[in-house]
Amino acid sequence: MLPVIYSDEFLNHKTGNYHPENPERLIAIVTALKEATFAEKIAWREPTPVADKPSLMSLLLQAHSPAYVRKLGEIAASGGGYLDGDTPVSANSYDVALLAVSAWLDGVDVVLTTENPAFVLARPPGHHAESDAGMGFCLFSNAAIAAFYALEQPDVERVAILDWDVHHGNGTQAIVEDQPQIAYCSLHQYPCYPGTGKASERGYHNNVLNVPLPPGSDITAYRPLLESKIFPFLQNFQPDLLIVSAGYDANAADPLASMNLLPEDYGLFTDYCLGITRKILFGLEGGYDFSSLSQSVLATIERCL
Ligand SMILES: [Zn+2]
Repeated sequence: MLPVIYSDEFLNHKTGNYHPENPERLIAIVTALKEATFAEKIAWREPTPVADKPSLMSLLLQAHSPAYVRKLGEIAASGGGYLDGDTPVSANSYDVALLAVSAWLDGVDVVLTTENPAFVLARPPGHHAESDAGMGFCLFSNAAIAAFYALEQPDVERVAILDWDVHHGNGTQAIVEDQPQIAYCSLHQYPCYPGTGKASERGYHNNVLNVPLPPGSDITAYRPLLESKIFPFLQNFQPDLLIVSAGYDANAADPLASMNLLPEDYGLFTDYCLGITRKILFGLEGGYDFSSLSQSVLATIERCL
């Protein structure tokens, strides 16, 4: 059985008509998972309510400034607004974003308990959110907060984050790059939004690996880099937990980037991860073409069964 942590509440972060990061993304994935040949092997779990997680706010404040968290709450309480041109906040967005953090924390618990993979199917995504600013559709830095939480658990000394979203996770990197117990590795289209993620950015402890790829790259470009750089880096770090910022916008069909991966290629990525550890928490980031997004999540999960 593979746990998938999901709530219909995640549909209540409203981004308006025509926004690529919309509730329909999750509906498409849930529908595809329920129709999958392996549907009976998925253990659906609701995230723990935020009120039942008293440590959540202190974890949130390890990643974000109090001023930013307060500002986000105030924008939502006022009925909504924008953090930047790409990043709407609706009346429910603050509460939904907190529940998404809770889901990622539950994911850490379930992976460490079962020593097997789990998938967090939540939104809003997180990897662009910086300490003091949400941006790029992202409100809270879910992956970094999950890493901080994992490091509080017994027998967890090192956490690696692999970010295979097509965009560089500037927020995650900025929040964890001074933490020697956290490694961050991103493979992303370059040049592309948000403009960060040069190979020369290595973190304060050589704990960051950025692998920029040119637009148009397909699996034949990714595979040698996975084998020669990315997986040796992660393997050498010997993580007690591997968190995957699982964005699926490097698909050829994706409207927001220019890469040429196919859904089954994410199955190959997953195989590499499973070669490092079975303690893997996958959490959804981007991916905006409903069909390839859904098929890619299926490919990821099927390899873990
Ligand atoms: Zn992305």
